[in-house]
Amino acid sequence: MSRAYDVIVIGAGSVGVPAAWAMARSSLKVLVLDRLASPCQGSNKTAIGGLRATHSEPSKIRVCLRSLEIASTWKATYGDDIEWSPGGYSFVAYDEREAGILRGLIETQQASGLDIDWHDAEHLLETVPALNPDGLIGGTFSPGDGHCSPLLLGHAMYEQARSGGAEFRFRESITGIEVDGGRVCAVVTDEGRYETPVILNAAGAWADEIGKLVGLDHPIRPDSHEAGITEPVAPFLGPMVVDIRPSERAANCYFFQLATGQIVFALTPQPLVPGFDCRETSGFLPVVAKRMIQLIPRLAGLRVRRTWRGLYPMSPDGAPLVGWSSEIEGYLMAIGMCGHGFMIGPGLGELLDRAVRDDLRSEDRMVLDELSPHRRFEGEAALK
Ligand SMILES: Cc1cc2nc3c(=O)[nH]c(=O)nc-3n(C[C@H](O)[C@H](O)[C@H](O)COP(=O)(O)OP(=O)(O)OC[C@H]3O[C@@H](n4cnc5c(N)ncnc54)[C@H](O)[C@@H]3O)c2cc1C
Repeated sequence: MSRAYDVIVIGAGSVGVPAAWAMARSSLKVLVLDRLASPCQGSNKTAIGGLRATHSEPSKIRVCLRSLEIASTWKATYGDDIEWSPGGYSFVAYDEREAGILRGLIETQQASGLDIDWHDAEHLLETVPALNPDGLIGGTFSPGDGHCSPLLLGHAMYEQARSGGAEFRFRESITGIEVDGGRVCAVVTDEGRYETPVILNAAGAWADEIGKLVGLDHPIRPDSHEAGITEPVAPFLGPMVVDIRPSERAANCYFFQLATGQIVFALTPQPLVPGFDCRETSGFLPVVAKRMIQLIPRLAGLRVRRTWRGLYPMSPDGAPLVGWSSEIEGYLMAIGMCGHGFMIGPGLGELLDRAVRDDLRSEDRMVLDELSPHRRFEGEAALK
């Protein structure tokens, strides 16, 4: 089989599906290929659904502000319930170190259009009354952030992409990418060959595998993170609570309450666990439970229903790599989403569509500049 497309997207995940949705809406002829059986079954389905524009880099703030607009208006626009919940985010500080980091970011965040403020302990306890007041210095609150279901949003975007004309082929592995005269011309899978002048690498944790097919090295290395969900309880927690205090076994911890009452939680293990292992561990629950109960004592006694483990596609500095290859014409990358691919996906999908149609806005150029795959990897994102 040999068919021609304007764009071939590799990976039907947090980034590939919204990109296909945006491109189909612009009448591009799109094919999305994924080796799994249905959309959003890679890292996307392991995300807990947090969607925030509270980042340290202007590029991510801008893209995620657009993601928030898309998610918060999805039901009104398309009719699907994606369980959008606008509870906001609160990054809490119990130490001067974290208070300094969080306060230091506010000026940049506000200048990038984010609605965020620092609240002292008394004020923060009005917004998050369940927080442990002992030692609380204060925290940020960004009311426009929220959460929704990664599977429901992914599926709704997939349906919209299909009704806009995008084709999806599942259970197909990419075995080759043909390059002629320095530019991409076709993708080869175990099922067929598809011609295209543009390939979008949206292969998440497996992005480097795709890069190797065109002789490029992408510095994307996955590490694995665990999450869980409790039984439902009466609503008591508005925002997502994020604690960036490093402890012996965890670099941070974050959780929120679903509209249906369950608490969904995750942490970043310390030390990190590099690799592709997605088997749950027995070590996760004792560590995360201790941290959560320290922050919100009334969580003690809540029963956990399920835990799972998935991959963060990490880049060297904790920010994504987005843009055209300078070596191979027609090869576009949207990789290294780290712990934020679900929240970046919708806004980034639209930007990628504009990139393919050569219709970039000045703000897009700022984003592409900051997230350039050809940048020098120095430092680390403050809110990784
Ligand atoms: C516990 C946990 C909690 C998280 N919570 C959040 C959160 O609250 N908010 C948030 O924004 N992010 C969160 N994340 C991170 C988020 O899940 C990822 O950043 C995001 O899913 C990455 O998106 P992606 O499109 O790059 O990759 P994926 O969603 O994994 O999509 C990549 C797709 O490419 C396909 N693919 C790869 N190689 C090939 C190939 N050779 N041939 C065919 N198909 C291929 C894969 O099968 C996969 O479907 C969390 C992650 C974990 C593990």
